[in-house]
Amino acid sequence: MNGKPLVYLDSAASAQKPRAVIDALTAAMEGSYANVHRGLHTLANETTEAFEAARETVARYLNATSADQIVWTRGGTEAINLVAAGVGQSLQPGDEILVSQMEHHSNIVPWHMLRERHGAVLKWIPVKDDGTLDMEAYAELLGPKTRVVAVTHMSNVLGTLNPVADIVRLAHAAGARVLVDGCQGAVHADPDVQAMGCDWYVLTGHKLFGPTAIGALYGTAEALESLPPYQGGGEMIQSVSEDRVTYAKPPQRFEAGTPPILEAIGLGAALTWYSTYDRAAVQAHEAALLERVRERLSGLNWLTEIGTAPGKGAIFTFTVDGAHAHDIAQIMDRYGVAVRAGLHCAEPLATRFGLTSSTRASFALYNTVEDADAFAAALIKAREFFV
Ligand SMILES: *Cc1c(COP(=O)(O)O)cnc(C)c1O
Repeated sequence: MNGKPLVYLDSAASAQKPRAVIDALTAAMEGSYANVHRGLHTLANETTEAFEAARETVARYLNATSADQIVWTRGGTEAINLVAAGVGQSLQPGDEILVSQMEHHSNIVPWHMLRERHGAVLKWIPVKDDGTLDMEAYAELLGPKTRVVAVTHMSNVLGTLNPVADIVRLAHAAGARVLVDGCQGAVHADPDVQAMGCDWYVLTGHKLFGPTAIGALYGTAEALESLPPYQGGGEMIQSVSEDRVTYAKPPQRFEAGTPPILEAIGLGAALTWYSTYDRAAVQAHEAALLERVRERLSGLNWLTEIGTAPGKGAIFTFTVDGAHAHDIAQIMDRYGVAVRAGLHCAEPLATRFGLTSSTRASFALYNTVEDADAFAAALIKAREFFV
């Protein structure tokens, strides 16, 4: 990249695709492709089988009890909008939604829309200086009016891993449902929905080494059943007449129209590929890369790491005194190092930390110790432009 070996440290924005995914997509297009469900011909049946097998792969990946608990969506964003839109239809003005200050805009704006449209009250779970959630404040915020708690499994800026099982336990005791945004957690943490006990869990394909325009919503049977349809169209109905429509059961109720067939098959291939690696070993590898970066950059008085929660995921977000985050990212790109800069779709969090932007390096299993060293070296060189 720019005459240097590529050091890709932007996997939290989108991950690179393994050969297994590229091959699965090609095979699905070349070998056996048709629309799903509708046909009674061989190609349609084969495609349907591959598509439903991918749904089962997602269910296994999340330790769901049934593939019927997995709804295909166009990404993490659509999955959260689906839940929020459904919840909105039974909200009373004054009902409360709890979100944390570290949420991605995808897990904020759909709830803001409920505030605008249905008179919901948004309450914010504060984030402490080290990037951990203030669990005491959270417990205080819960009350009889809390309908939903919407929190991220892992912050895409701070790397913080939230104590989701505790969050769920407290919410359920208060009679609220919990949506967990797993767009990062499903990649870097343990996305065991039964262990977490959450009502809904959201993942996005392109950060899990799969294609874009595919995601999944997990829900318990009861939580999915509580939601009305999201969009209307083919395949989500039981029957339609001139004056009446009845809807299919979940998950089909939420899958109007031709679904992202190839993308679902590609995501299934990505999860199958990723699952061949030992999860604990991947996490240990990523943690070692973060430690390496911190060692290389320790003691620099011009550098501030944003988010230092114990045991956090391998995301290194930082500011450089006297330099704009975008300039740092652009100079690092000249050294072949791809990092992201800006608000990272988490403006309330930036505001919480008094920042207008920051730079982020995010690691995945394919990154190496050499990548960590190249990042540290490029950052030190980039900073010299501002001295
Ligand atoms: C990327 C991301 C999203 C949004 O996912 P899309 O793929 O853009 O729909 C939501 N939450 C978090 C934490 C993310 O990192």
